[in-house]
Amino acid sequence: MSYLLKGGQLITNNPQRDVIKADLLIQDNKIQKLAENIPASSDVETIDVSNQLVIPGFVQAHTHLCQALFRGYADDLSLLEWLEEKIWPMEHAHDTDSIAASADLGLLEMQLAGTTSIFDMGTVRNMHSILERVEKSGMRYWGGKCFMDLKESSGPLYEDKDTSLSETRDLIKNWHHKTNRIHYTICPRFAVSCTEEMLTESFALAQEFGLKYHIHASENKDEVAMIKERTGKLNVEYLDSIGTLGKDTVIIHGVHLEESELARMIETDTHLVHCPTANLKLASGFAPIHKYRQAGLVVGIGADGAPCNNTMDPFYEMRLAALIQKPLFGPEALPAQQAFEMATIEGAKVLGKENEIGSLEEGKLADIATIDLTHPSVATVENPYSALVYSCSSRDVTNVFIDGERVVANGQHQNLDHELTVAHCHEQLGLLLKRV
Ligand SMILES: [Zn+2]
Repeated sequence: MSYLLKGGQLITNNPQRDVIKADLLIQDNKIQKLAENIPASSDVETIDVSNQLVIPGFVQAHTHLCQALFRGYADDLSLLEWLEEKIWPMEHAHDTDSIAASADLGLLEMQLAGTTSIFDMGTVRNMHSILERVEKSGMRYWGGKCFMDLKESSGPLYEDKDTSLSETRDLIKNWHHKTNRIHYTICPRFAVSCTEEMLTESFALAQEFGLKYHIHASENKDEVAMIKERTGKLNVEYLDSIGTLGKDTVIIHGVHLEESELARMIETDTHLVHCPTANLKLASGFAPIHKYRQAGLVVGIGADGAPCNNTMDPFYEMRLAALIQKPLFGPEALPAQQAFEMATIEGAKVLGKENEIGSLEEGKLADIATIDLTHPSVATVENPYSALVYSCSSRDVTNVFIDGERVVANGQHQNLDHELTVAHCHEQLGLLLKRV
């Protein structure tokens, strides 16, 4: 199917950062053409997007689909209590049906909000069910089974290293590049829950298959103190000392980084993902992202899990990412355009795919969202970056294309039934809560 998006304002994110009034032609899974007045034809579906913004779809560079069902069940706690008392017992209580329902809920919410790629941390068990739902939804996906092999700090999710790594080899075989949208990822949860052998052997596995290595680190001061006590090193310093930094490693959070750790991340081309709402809700702190970016670190944005946010709306994350830098560094720090770029082209850089996604350019993959600008909260705003970051929300997303497939049409998901998904989630949540 081919689509012609007619008359929109394109926020291209191309190297010149052009914002242009033009038509956009999607053919197969690519952006075929950007130009004024592309003629309509009978084999192309024309969609009128005049008075709308056309943007590259959002890259949510850190999510937990398996936790979407727990939203509202783990409020007002700090990170380690939140994990040990609420999240790990609920992840442990998942069966294949409840985890599929949770994945559907997260995918539905994020796609309706214009998200076209996610970098997801899975859970220890039932990973296959998440991947099946990802494929059905049409999401462009990086993610995989989570590792927790240090018995005293993994709660009920503990699984020994050899079992985890052997199952991972099967998952890689069955799912990595099963479609051009699915990229398997190696996911040690965090150093607190992993043995050193797990961190290094799983890193070697990532290198063997050319996969991303996705790990939380330096989110919370207690977490940093635990690693210091065990290893004598700071958290990222420890990951560096065992050889697990590098261009395929993505550190999630990095709220509490020393200068020396920041410098090593930049030297090794290790990237970071910022989750501002989660950092505030779990009282973890304010990551000085403006300073990190000034120093040259590549930083994406993610909503993290639904129970530490409690929405997965990329507009809220952009807005908060911009706002919380201002009391720290002044009102000019992290302006709206930079927040938008972190949620799109920089997220693509985090995934090493900036030549394929993250901007509207001829030949790139057709991952696109269209944004309506008629709501009173945004209708009079001239600057499109200001509109997107400070005034819009998922409410304003009208169409979403992933790999050229129209997954959201006029606000309706085309692959997941909204009412049935929510009804199924109610049922599965009730059953899960009885198992916790
Ligand atoms: Zn997380």
